[in-house]
Amino acid sequence: MTNHLEFLKDVIDDLKKENLFSELPLLSSQQQARVKINGKDVLTLSTNNYLGFANHPRLVEAAKRAMDKWGFGTGAVRQIAGTMDIHNEAEEVLAKFKGTDAALIFVAGIAANRGTIQALMGPEDAIISDELNHGSIIDGVRLTKSERKIFPHKDMEGLEKVLKETQNAKRRLVVTDGVFSMDGDIAPLDQITELTEKYDAILMVDDAHGDGVLGKQGRGIVDHFNVHGKVDIEMGTLSKAFACLGGYIAGTQELRDYMTNRARSFIFTTAHPMAITGAIIEAIKMVQDEPEHHKKLWENSNYFKEGLKDLGFNTGVSETPITPVIVGPSSKAAELSKRLFDNGIFVKPIVFPLVSKDTARVRNIVTAQHTREDLDFALETYTKIGKEMKLI
Ligand SMILES: *Cc1c(COP(=O)(O)O)cnc(C)c1O
Repeated sequence: MTNHLEFLKDVIDDLKKENLFSELPLLSSQQQARVKINGKDVLTLSTNNYLGFANHPRLVEAAKRAMDKWGFGTGAVRQIAGTMDIHNEAEEVLAKFKGTDAALIFVAGIAANRGTIQALMGPEDAIISDELNHGSIIDGVRLTKSERKIFPHKDMEGLEKVLKETQNAKRRLVVTDGVFSMDGDIAPLDQITELTEKYDAILMVDDAHGDGVLGKQGRGIVDHFNVHGKVDIEMGTLSKAFACLGGYIAGTQELRDYMTNRARSFIFTTAHPMAITGAIIEAIKMVQDEPEHHKKLWENSNYFKEGLKDLGFNTGVSETPITPVIVGPSSKAAELSKRLFDNGIFVKPIVFPLVSKDTARVRNIVTAQHTREDLDFALETYTKIGKEMKLI
């Protein structure tokens, strides 16, 4: 048989030549601060497991309880026969946590962004998007026939200019990441809400890296800026700080009702297994009744970020636990990552197309699970490698 896919090899070879090919790192331990990756025991600084919930006994127990009661699979999409009491309960608990009337859970964050934007925006509408928005938002925008406008990153004059230019569109949607996932900076939501009020545009915020991190008890970016009621659609993920799986939108009951009938990525996919849903409910409870994880996350992240800065590393504009060490060309980021790994630290290089070609980096995320000794070990290792590579 002819191999019709031979061209894939050329692409892969090219990627490898440019140091842009990424292997899937392999874990053979639970997800926690110290892990076994690719056969080596290392300290990881590469997860979104902000609160250390990924292997927390409370989540594991909640998943088991849900399975004991409900069994394992759902066997149907939510719209047909897959919605169980526990799915609705999770959405109610989530809406309460976010301070909205209702919430709707999708199979993943990427599905929430794709489905919501696709269902909401038509050919006579305009979508206005920050240039550094997450790929899943970009996917959502591409699924529409709406006019697309990109404004320069966090540039409020740029946003206002585009809002003026699109006055003739039937509806406008302004969409932005809350926390930007490559640099760890925060969207100026207070100013953005003023503009969307002034120009009568719909506002959607992706809180994937804000939930569990920003605001009181980790309620997210809306709480951080105290702009409750001014964001039409809060989108987020249950896969990061909550360490489960799923994406969601939170807002009015009409938003939920509309999306259950119109969002294709909700309609055409099977409901979550109840073990996941049980764990989601528990994670949202835990973030509220065990505030120590949230406190520790910030202590750790401030300590580590200050440490890197004092050493002279370029951590960019980070304001959150996401702390890049920016080194320039992709080959340098790959080398830094490799040397750190050889010395017991796992951080993935982040290269083009995730970031521009000259700002390749490794991206560190400390979690609530890291101990002070872990962080000191990481800083010592960074010092050694940083000097060897003449980065500091
Ligand atoms: C991770 C991420 C998503 C996707 O969430 P998943 O639940 O992992 O699919 C969406 N938006 C942003 C900003 C993210 O960082």
